[in-house]
Amino acid sequence: MSTVTYIGLGSNLGDSRQILIEAVQKLATLGAVKTSKLYQSPPMGPQDQPNYLNAVAELVTDLAPLALLDQLQRFEQESGRVRLRRWGERTLDLDLLVYGQQQIQNERLTVPHVGLLERDFVVIPLLDLDANIEIKAQQLKDLPLVQHPTLSVLDDESWSNI
Ligand code: ATP
Ligand code: MG
Ligand code: MG
Repeated sequence: MSTVTYIGLGSNLGDSRQILIEAVQKLATLGAVKTSKLYQSPPMGPQDQPNYLNAVAELVTDLAPLALLDQLQRFEQESGRVRLRRWGERTLDLDLLVYGQQQIQNERLTVPHVGLLERDFVVIPLLDLDANIEIKAQQLKDLPLVQHPTLSVLDDESWSNI
């Protein structure tokens, strides 16, 4: 059975734009993909690191949540991701933001993703994909942070060539 999922993509090391394009191509091997616009945003956590490129992908997939997480972590590894420090610089971060209507809580996975409602760099691209999206009974378009985004649009939906 197919499920509508949303994946957060981020990169601030290496050729970030190319890394995100390749990540979207890999996601497309797991199901049908659509992408948000492409954004540039200031880092969360340590401030002595480059700005991020961010986007969100909608992925309609047959994979179960943990099987999907396995694939996301494999793609992060293939991009050469190394863990240096919490919320530090990375070539690729792929977070499972939403998995259908499911709420998941185990050692490897919290879904909807922790902090989703406080992060403009996921809320705003999610709204590109579904202007009426509701998460944890919250209409994302009504969140105050939508009025005061810290991120800027770099490119429209066609950036990923998908
Ligand atoms: P944040 O999760 O706050 O955005 P991060 O993306 O930098 O921080 P990572 O180092 O990428 O964190 O992941 C740390 C752990 O988070 C992973 O080992 C993974 O098991 C766990 N995790 C829990 N929930 C999720 C989720 N929804 N998507 C991806 N990873 C998750
Ligand atoms: Mg993350
Ligand atoms: Mg992550």
